[in-house]
Amino acid sequence: MLETLRHIVQEVNAAEGLNEALDIIVRRVRDAMGTEVCSVYMRDPLSNRYIFRATEGLNKRLVGQASLASGEGLVGLVAEREEPINLEDAETHPAFQFLQGIGEEAFHAFLGVPIIHQRDVLGVLVVQQAQRRRFDEDDEAFLVTMSAQLAGVIAHAQVTGAVQEELLDGAEPARINGIPGAPGIAIGTVVVVSPEADLFAVPKRIVNNRRAELRAFRQALNAVQADIRAVSDNLRGEMSAEDHALFDVYLGILDDSAIGGEVAALIKAGHWAQGALSQVMIKHIRHFERMEHSYLRERAVDVKDLGTRVLSYLQANDTSRDKDYPEQCILVGEELTATALGEVPRDQLVGLISVRGSGNSHVAILARAMGIPTVMGAVDLPYARLQDREVIVDGYQGAVHLNPVPEVRQRFQDLLNEDLAINKDLEALRDLPCETLDGHRLPLWVNTGLMVDVGRSLDQGAEGVGLYRTEVPFLLRDRFPSEEEQRQIYREQLQAFAPRPVTMRTLDIGGDKALPYFPIEEDNPFLGWRGIRVTLDHPEIFLAQVRAMLKANEGLGNLRIMLPMVSNIAELDEALVLIRRSHRELQQEGFAGELPPIGVMVEVPSAVYQARALARRVDFLSVGSNDLTQYLLAVDRNNARVADLYHSFHPAVLQALRSVAEAGQSEGKPVGICGELAGDPLGAVLMLAMGYNVLSMNATSLPRVKQVLRKLTHARACEVLAEVMAMEDAAAVTRRLEALMVESGLQSFSRSR
Ligand code: PEP
Ligand code: MG
Repeated sequence: MLETLRHIVQEVNAAEGLNEALDIIVRRVRDAMGTEVCSVYMRDPLSNRYIFRATEGLNKRLVGQASLASGEGLVGLVAEREEPINLEDAETHPAFQFLQGIGEEAFHAFLGVPIIHQRDVLGVLVVQQAQRRRFDEDDEAFLVTMSAQLAGVIAHAQVTGAVQEELLDGAEPARINGIPGAPGIAIGTVVVVSPEADLFAVPKRIVNNRRAELRAFRQALNAVQADIRAVSDNLRGEMSAEDHALFDVYLGILDDSAIGGEVAALIKAGHWAQGALSQVMIKHIRHFERMEHSYLRERAVDVKDLGTRVLSYLQANDTSRDKDYPEQCILVGEELTATALGEVPRDQLVGLISVRGSGNSHVAILARAMGIPTVMGAVDLPYARLQDREVIVDGYQGAVHLNPVPEVRQRFQDLLNEDLAINKDLEALRDLPCETLDGHRLPLWVNTGLMVDVGRSLDQGAEGVGLYRTEVPFLLRDRFPSEEEQRQIYREQLQAFAPRPVTMRTLDIGGDKALPYFPIEEDNPFLGWRGIRVTLDHPEIFLAQVRAMLKANEGLGNLRIMLPMVSNIAELDEALVLIRRSHRELQQEGFAGELPPIGVMVEVPSAVYQARALARRVDFLSVGSNDLTQYLLAVDRNNARVADLYHSFHPAVLQALRSVAEAGQSEGKPVGICGELAGDPLGAVLMLAMGYNVLSMNATSLPRVKQVLRKLTHARACEVLAEVMAMEDAAAVTRRLEALMVESGLQSFSRSR
């Protein structure tokens, strides 16, 4: 059964669009279950009716014509109840509805199961038989499993279909939902970032210079053939003649009479070499994967390997990689990285879309810092096909729009213009203090990592740096930076902000931040070797970093050191010993300078409960609400599938935040917050009322937060805090805060804009 399921899903996966996918489903399910009929009804979102979309066994002429409303007929009932219906004789059921001409009179047994994707009923899958009998438990289990697996594939095929049609006339508008990554609207042209040599991620592209593409392909092919011959010669004598013959098979596969010829034909038809290669190789890989015999099935791996080798050569010689980026460039990729962002000139990069990740992934944090509207977790986006297309990125709602109708495009253009106007107004706030109407001052600091952040932060009127993510310069290198290299980087930061304080966090790698030169492979990286756990296990890395920070601080005195991911007192004590020792040693070496303030991040639930003990040992606390929320709610901050469970206003999170503020106050130590919540105007109101001493956020959010806090009184914020602390769910808290924005004339800063 598993094998059959796997085959069907694979075949459906390879379909070009929804119609083809549905045709494969009905044919293959009917054969696999040995039934006489299999049909699919798909919900039309506009009419909310279930349309008869594909069948084997009923009247195909009614495909696209017949339909049932939710709750109407057995199909409608399956959809409404969201559960299977299994009947010996369909006609005798009171809900049965006769569909004229569809031809189901002869069939009595009926089994229908809903197709549900992310809680949304997409359609109903039905099998029918002439014999009066209930389908047995195995049949039902098979169809339910099939439908659950196919739901995601169908959702994907629906969007792929919309994109395909764009190549033809009469393109359908499509909205693909993701997760808000960074606020703002962008309208621009897509550039697809493909991971290196991934056959499945090559964008489609039509080219004019076919001859050059053909030449590039031939060169790549020759290079791989030469490589294979070289390996083959090396191994001659070490392998049996039979095994050795495999190399001839490989050479044969790439031959002009086989794959080589097919690729060349596609290039001649106008496809670029990488795209033609990818199309042909995927077709053959799928073909092998579908084979019954396991030996032959495993050959799919060889074919994939050969194709990947040719692709590597093509990519290595691809001069178009030093791309002419479009004026309004929207970067789209399976998983965007900081490096990919850095390749596009900043003034041309207007939007980002990442298929993976969520709003709390580090790439989203970076995007917010840079002020680039971003959608994360757009899992159903057939991104490889979007090269050069115009799309709209809605970073507020977390949605991507393809082929928008003119009115929709205009609405987004208006929103974009409105944003530009707001930002212009906010510039006037630069030199004004963040002070409430009743005179309460709350310093607003920034989070930094890249050098570009510095200029933007100062422009926005930042009063200090609450979190300098030192791992960012580590991520952009191919080895650990030396102590001296680090000193120079840190010096630049400290100097740029002096005399304002700069809080440098010691290396926080692990989780979703992997250094290419220091891979950490774990099943559960967010619960694994991360942050201070790594650096305490590698004191040489920690000490070099601390020494570099202390040296960089010489003569400036604005450094603060902060420790990430502390989950027990012993870790803190150990780190303090190392920092103090470094300072003593440096003094012995002749460096001047005081020991800087040292703080600890509260971002693990255990640290919330031990906040007072931690506070006693250090000079300040700073809440990392991004991690604290993920650990309190057991919701991976990077996983799009559970992103709607990640609630910063969850009562448990709010209680934890308040208790940390109180712990700091009891010990007479300042408490800040440097998670993304600080940059959310609604969250900032609560932090103000809880008594946080400093809010540290991305530079883009700073003027917005300042504007909101300057329009409120501290007293009003405290009243609202008292109200929301009594609430039992995040949605109610959000509603209350939104209402506060509206009543204070600040609706353009609310989340639901
Ligand atoms: C946090 O966890 O809230 C935080 C500020 O650190 P990071 O996002 O870098 O993990
Ligand atoms: Mg963190």
